[in-house]
Amino acid sequence: MKNDHKRLGPLLNEVRACRICESYLPAGPRPILQIHPDARLLIAGQAPGRKVHESGTPFDDASGDRLRDWIGVTRDDFYNPEFIAILPMGFCYPGTGKSGDLPPRPECAPAWREQLLHHLPRLQLTLVIGAYAHAYHLPGAKGTLTATVQNWRNFRPDVVPLPHPSPRNNVWLSRNPWFEEELLPSLRKQVQTALSS
Ligand code: SF4
Repeated sequence: MKNDHKRLGPLLNEVRACRICESYLPAGPRPILQIHPDARLLIAGQAPGRKVHESGTPFDDASGDRLRDWIGVTRDDFYNPEFIAILPMGFCYPGTGKSGDLPPRPECAPAWREQLLHHLPRLQLTLVIGAYAHAYHLPGAKGTLTATVQNWRNFRPDVVPLPHPSPRNNVWLSRNPWFEEELLPSLRKQVQTALSS
């Protein structure tokens, strides 16, 4: 990609000024991401919701509280970009449809993702949250989101598929007890190892 070797600071300024899909964003562009070249853990999520759009802080909501509990990190560590990078598949709030937030804007990942990932040389572990991030970071995954998460042991050891931690997924969590009983204990160990490396 032609801009791969751009320095992170100027690249971030470009991302923060991005207007590529402005006409589709009901609340306007407000790219929300967190990145530092020393980050060891990448959280690849979906797209900010309205509350996060308003606060400007990624996962500053009930989903974030659950995600921090899942991975066993404090708010301070979660928001330390030298530990954790947060790059959703769409950086701006895409609006809400009949059954919840709309998908991440499809323009976003092709425009920015590879360039930003290039600036994470110390990455040890990537958590991929939701179907759009699964499709990008685990292109070999087939089947439903549940099948992909249930198959977590069979992917690359540095990429872990997760469902969205939204309260909307409470039913999914109660139907899939193996997630909390088997996947989460292993995930917490992997996160600890990555952050202490
Ligand atoms: S969602 Fe991505 S591509 Fe669209 S305006 Fe925001 S940063 Fe740009």
